[in-house]
Amino acid sequence: SLFSRQRSPLLEVKGNTELKRPLVKALSRLPLPGSRFKRGPDQMEDALEPEKKRTRGLGTVPKVATSHPRATVLTTVPQTQGQTAAPKVPKKTGPRCSTAIATAAAAPPMLVGKKPSKRPAWDLKGQLCDLNAELKCYRERTQTLDRENQQLRDQLREAQQQATALGAERRTLEGELARVQAEAEQGQQELGNLRARVLELEERLGTQEALVQELQKEQLGLQEERRGLAARLEEQERKLQTSEAALSGSQAEVASLRQEAVAQAALLAERGERLHGLEMERRRLHNQLQELKGNIRVFCRVRPVLPGEATPPPGFLLFPSGPGGLSDLPTRLSLSRSDERRGTLSGAPAPPTRHDFSFDRVFPPGSGQDEVFEEIAMLVQSALDGYPVCIFAYGQTGSGKTFTMEGGPGGDPQVEGLIPRALRHLFSMAQELSGQGWTYSFVASYVEIYNETVRDLLATGTRKGQGGECEIRRAGPGSEELTVTNARYVPVSCEKEVEALLHLARQNRAVARTAQNERSSRSHSVFQLQISGEHAARGLQCGAPLSLVDLAGSERLDPGLALGPGERERLRETQAINSSLSTLGLVIMALSNKESHIPYRNSKLTYLLQNSLGGSAKMLMFVNISPLEENVSESLNSLRFASKVRLPASPGPVRTPAL
Ligand code: ADP
Ligand code: MG
Repeated sequence: SLFSRQRSPLLEVKGNTELKRPLVKALSRLPLPGSRFKRGPDQMEDALEPEKKRTRGLGTVPKVATSHPRATVLTTVPQTQGQTAAPKVPKKTGPRCSTAIATAAAAPPMLVGKKPSKRPAWDLKGQLCDLNAELKCYRERTQTLDRENQQLRDQLREAQQQATALGAERRTLEGELARVQAEAEQGQQELGNLRARVLELEERLGTQEALVQELQKEQLGLQEERRGLAARLEEQERKLQTSEAALSGSQAEVASLRQEAVAQAALLAERGERLHGLEMERRRLHNQLQELKGNIRVFCRVRPVLPGEATPPPGFLLFPSGPGGLSDLPTRLSLSRSDERRGTLSGAPAPPTRHDFSFDRVFPPGSGQDEVFEEIAMLVQSALDGYPVCIFAYGQTGSGKTFTMEGGPGGDPQVEGLIPRALRHLFSMAQELSGQGWTYSFVASYVEIYNETVRDLLATGTRKGQGGECEIRRAGPGSEELTVTNARYVPVSCEKEVEALLHLARQNRAVARTAQNERSSRSHSVFQLQISGEHAARGLQCGAPLSLVDLAGSERLDPGLALGPGERERLRETQAINSSLSTLGLVIMALSNKESHIPYRNSKLTYLLQNSLGGSAKMLMFVNISPLEENVSESLNSLRFASKVRLPASPGPVRTPAL
């Protein structure tokens, strides 16, 4: 049969109805938020796929639509076989048709023909009518199915549009997801950074905490210290208060002391005035005393017998005591001389002749340098007071002139001579007088006069030891003062400087000695010190030269000696010395006799010393005597010269025969 050969469209409807379910389900889920990701568009595609396939699979009946209207599908009412619900079937189909449809839905179409009102075979008209009705019914159904098909197509399109929209939405969401992931990554990174920062901060916090602890400890220490300091401060304040109390006491004391000081100052000024008066008086009296002692004095000094020298016979030199006995300082000397030429008639040796001499002072061999200086100290005082002083050492070579003037060998202070002692005395006296307002300055020079030529003994450098000649000149036109050209004038203020000068002079003489035999004993050494004193407050000045002269040996040449060429030279030299020494004697005698003409110009020595001689000048001559018998002749000559100088007007030494 027709119906049995072709598949019933109702079955197709049923199939369609089943296909619809997943789609409807998918649609119903679309609006639900949160479920989007659970079902991707692929799954949607899958859901749609079976419909497509089946639609294609329908083959010959592509336009078959479900018998159920869309509304029915959307309501999702479950449809079971046998149910006869088909409300959308058009009413004009009539009750039979509708019944047939309803039945067809539950049974195969061939059952439609099995109608209870089966027409008899002959009723062909009725059968045709039935068939027309059935055809009409199918046609109607076909139309319905077409409409349904159309509807389904619309739905499909709609679903595809929705799928497209969903795809777009998916891409947006994917973009969003990527962005969110990037954000999340960035967040992670930031989180990492923050963690690192936190760690760093924690570390710093640890350090800071340690620091804080340390500072706290320190603070504690400082507080302790502060307490200590506060205690000390308190103590100091207490002390200060005590001190202040003491100070105010002291200030009162100071005030009273000041008053006292003012009174003392007034007293002192008065005393100073008196002292000055006394000083001037002392000077006057001192000078008077010196003048009474004589402006020209002669001392005799006998040197001791040196080791290795022949001891003189007893009684050769005697030192008779004065009228005052031993308490008187010795002033007398007796020298005995046995004269072989004077024989007695009996042939017995003639008794020795005794020569008595008297001087201002006699120093026997045992006298020390200090003893000798005591007498000189007075004259040094006169020099400071402003009187020229001149001290000579006269005598034959080897009699002790240099020893007296400069001192013994070896720098032993015991044997220091007059020059260093006089200068030390001057320096200390000047120091004393400075307390009374006097200031003193000293300038030293040291020259040698040999054969009437002057040489500087203080020469240094290239001139040292050379015979660089000097001239004696007036310091200026019309000036009384004399100066030696080319000679050094050295300011001195202490012993050390004087020592250095004496040392230099010795060196200069030693150099000269190699050139000319024993020149030092053949020349006069003149040490001069220019003393200048000033009392600025009183406008007083005083100045005087102090001269210390080591004269050339006074011995004469033995007239019995044969005169060779060397001796002739020696003779001339000796004559020069003798001439200058006799000139000195003559000058002194002329001064003593107060003669109008003083022959200073007759020798370089007297010319150089003219300001230190005469007038108020004090002159002292040491006559140095050898204690040896072999020197008796020279000793007598020296003693006679000295006696003439001392007492120029007197007839000379008294000669008394020895007992
Ligand atoms: P002058 O200078 O007169 O030639 P010196 O002063 O050189 O004589 O003396 C000669 C020697 O005698 C030196 O060795 C010296 O030391 C010594 N002499 C001189 N006088 C004394 C004295 N009073 N005491 C000890 N020795 C002396
Ligand atoms: Mg000498």
